[in-house]
Amino acid sequence: MKMIWYKRNGVFGLSFVWFLFLLPVYLSAQNDFKLLDSSSCALAITHDTVDHFFERVQPLEVSILLKQAEWKDSIQESAALALTERMQQYALTPDDTQRKILETSMKNAMDRSAPFLKKYPLPQIQLGLIEGTLYGPSVFYTRENGIYIPKDMVVSGNETTLTQILIHEIFHIQSRNYPTLQQKIYAEIGFIKLDRIPDMPAAFRSRILLNPDGTDWNFTIPLRLQDEEELAYPMIVSNQPQFDPAVPAFFAYLKFQLFPLYASDKGYELDYTDDLNGLGQDWYGPFFQKITNNTQYIIHPDELAADNFVLLTRRKAGEKLSLSPEGYKLLDRIEKHYK
Ligand SMILES: [Zn+2]
Repeated sequence: MKMIWYKRNGVFGLSFVWFLFLLPVYLSAQNDFKLLDSSSCALAITHDTVDHFFERVQPLEVSILLKQAEWKDSIQESAALALTERMQQYALTPDDTQRKILETSMKNAMDRSAPFLKKYPLPQIQLGLIEGTLYGPSVFYTRENGIYIPKDMVVSGNETTLTQILIHEIFHIQSRNYPTLQQKIYAEIGFIKLDRIPDMPAAFRSRILLNPDGTDWNFTIPLRLQDEEELAYPMIVSNQPQFDPAVPAFFAYLKFQLFPLYASDKGYELDYTDDLNGLGQDWYGPFFQKITNNTQYIIHPDELAADNFVLLTRRKAGEKLSLSPEGYKLLDRIEKHYK
């Protein structure tokens, strides 16, 4: 998932010299993409047999996405069906101008990513154009091997921004297709895979908001604060118990929080209090020490990994980055998995 407010200031003009350098790489790559029309986009965007988004999305989240409070009290299957139907209505066919912008931006994104796609090549990527009504007019996301792009972003002059966001989305698809690579990169950032989803009360589960680019809840990050140690469990929850028509934007509900996790005989248990406040602010120091400050887009391990992937492509293209020494070390550790 990617939002425009997060956009960095990096310059992404592809110089002629770089073009010549990258052209053979692109031509030799197996990676490919195609643009979807509205009917194939409607099918693809609502099909998820990998992350099972539609089986996991909670009625509260559906009510926020659809901006209709009543869905909160519906059963999960009905709410998910309503979301599916609305998503299908918002699938678009790109016109000629949009098609050219998407093709140019995606080719550039593939060229830039090419050095990191050799060992882990992508399947054919599908690009779908959508109304940005549900998540917001600047929110991109992926599902299976598709990238879904809000139409307001596909405008002339926006190719550089699109290219950078598409590189981020390309990582999500690579990560989804190579779980072993995913686990290795998450581990470099500090996350450990749990063998099962921790036990959590129903009241907590109903407040979870999914990241469509990482629906997996099985990760923890061990943290140390002076003499104390915690298994921190990163989650996105709704900061409100129900949709409020006065607050229509989906991202206004999104609350990222670290929750303490306890090992029990059943596996892991979430320490949850009704306030959803989780670990105190002082635990974010050790958290950022581990994940570094390479990105502030921290809502899921796959987002951290995707932004570090973008940094790798920028460094590879010769762009000067200004990261902390720990940030560079993290990039080096991630890069070695691509060699
Ligand atoms: Zn993302």
